[in-house]
Amino acid sequence: MEPKGQQLVHCPSCGFNGVRRRESVLLQIFGALTLAGIIIPVIGWMVLFPIGVIGFLPAGVYEYLISKKTRMVCTQCKHKFVISTELYKTLKKHLKN
Ligand SMILES: [Zn+2]
Repeated sequence: MEPKGQQLVHCPSCGFNGVRRRESVLLQIFGALTLAGIIIPVIGWMVLFPIGVIGFLPAGVYEYLISKKTRMVCTQCKHKFVISTELYKTLKKHLKN
């Protein structure tokens, strides 16, 4: 029998198998800046938006293309941990099926 996706990754702290991906803090900050830049007139458009986009792009490229690690968080105890992107892809594939 094929192993189910949820059985591939366990929380290292409590052993629970409900885990989800956690976005990087940098991406969240730059994403928020970009969003604020769209909403806030003038200063937002001239300052926040460019900073957000300029920061978001390299952070996103690093996160999704260069980094071989994927940040995960346990949905039970909120323990944060890291797995290899390879394992994450396998996990995602199993979760879809
Ligand atoms: Zn846990």
